[in-house]
Amino acid sequence: MTLFEKIANHEIPATILFEDDMIVAFRDINPQAPQHVVIIPRRAIASVNDVESDDAALLGMMFVVAKQIASDLGVAESGYRLIINCGPDAGQSVAHIHMHLLGGRTMAWPPG
Ligand code: AMP
Repeated sequence: MTLFEKIANHEIPATILFEDDMIVAFRDINPQAPQHVVIIPRRAIASVNDVESDDAALLGMMFVVAKQIASDLGVAESGYRLIINCGPDAGQSVAHIHMHLLGGRTMAWPPG
C-alpha cells in the first residue's frame, strides 16, 4: 500500500481538506508555498505513465476538487499552480499519482 493510500485510509495522520469516495486532498507535510495541498485519487495509479482511458472521469474530478479547494483557501483569484510530477526527472517521490496545488505567493517560470 502506498503512503498516500494510508493517508486516504486515515492510517497515517494528515490534515485532510476534502475527501469523498474517489478523491482525497490533504496539506503537504513540507509546504513549498503558503498553501500547498496534495490531491489524490483513492485508486493507486502509480503515475501519469499508468493512466488509462477508464481513469478519465476520476482524473477530471481532481481538477474539480482543485478548483474548489483553491476557492476555499482564497487563492482562486490571486492564482495558483497545479503540478503533477511524473518520474525521476520531475522529482516524483511517491508512486501514487497526485496533483500539487500551490498558492499564496508569486511563482517563477520556468520551474526549477
Ligand atoms: P512528489 O515529489 O511530486 O512525489 O510529491 C510528494 C509530496 O508528498 C511531497 O511534496 C511531500 O512533501 C509530500 N508528502 C510526503 N509525505 C507526506 C505526508 N506524510 N503527509 C503529507 N504530505 C507528504
